[in-house]
Amino acid sequence: MIALSLLGIPNDDNSSYLKGTAAAPPLIRRELHCDAYSIRSETGIDFGEAGRLIDCGDLHFDGVADAWEVIEQGVGRALAQGGPLLCLGGDHAITHPILRAVRRCQPRLTIVHIDAHADLYDAYQGNPRSHASPFARIMEEGLADRLIQVGLRTVNDEHRAQFERFGVEVIEAANWRDGLRLDLDTPVYVSIDLDGLDPAYAPGVSHREPGGASPRQVIDLLHGIRQPIVAGDIVEYNPSCDISNLTALVAAKLVKELGGMMIKTALGGTRAAA
Ligand code: MN
Ligand code: MN
Repeated sequence: MIALSLLGIPNDDNSSYLKGTAAAPPLIRRELHCDAYSIRSETGIDFGEAGRLIDCGDLHFDGVADAWEVIEQGVGRALAQGGPLLCLGGDHAITHPILRAVRRCQPRLTIVHIDAHADLYDAYQGNPRSHASPFARIMEEGLADRLIQVGLRTVNDEHRAQFERFGVEVIEAANWRDGLRLDLDTPVYVSIDLDGLDPAYAPGVSHREPGGASPRQVIDLLHGIRQPIVAGDIVEYNPSCDISNLTALVAAKLVKELGGMMIKTALGGTRAAA
């Protein structure tokens, strides 16, 4: 049986405005396993089935010299389980060391990145590891062949220069139509910054940016992917900004739907093939 590996990466060292995302993973897990909700995915995958979900726990950062080493090694160990891997942040900076490990197993890789922000600054507030910069590092290091950014609504001239430099494909929020399908031809990594969603649905983020996607739009986009989704992350849940755990619940829903598509695409068939 193909199992989804789940790994918590509670690190918010590189958040620019507010800390707090390091507290996210256990709160997302609590909603995922809460008896009030079904743990079955709309994809038909039931994560309540024995052996379908392997929880690798959380990485630990107390007293470590280099968090990037801890993340790269921890992700490498989780990938060695053999199934697809879904990481729970933490802030978006963690996607860079995650991809260092993922890339070693994936000679062809496309990143689908859902976010209000491009996260392409060469450095932000002097920090090249900022959560506003991971995709600049990823593209510089050649950790993906394509980067497709979806849902952006804060694009400026520096970002446009980086789009050009790295060949980034961009679907801004203004151009996100229902039924959006991506043209993909390699294995896929999906990175979901929860601020890509509208803050009406996901208020528990450090940088609320109105005008974003609904959970349904994000789920439909995920359900339309045919290529294997080999790994991904759900980042930037900040419990200190949340209202009644709403955003943790949305994150848990996305674990089921993105995780479900990881299993489905690994099995070689998709429900959304219509
Ligand atoms: Mn963002
Ligand atoms: Mn981001």
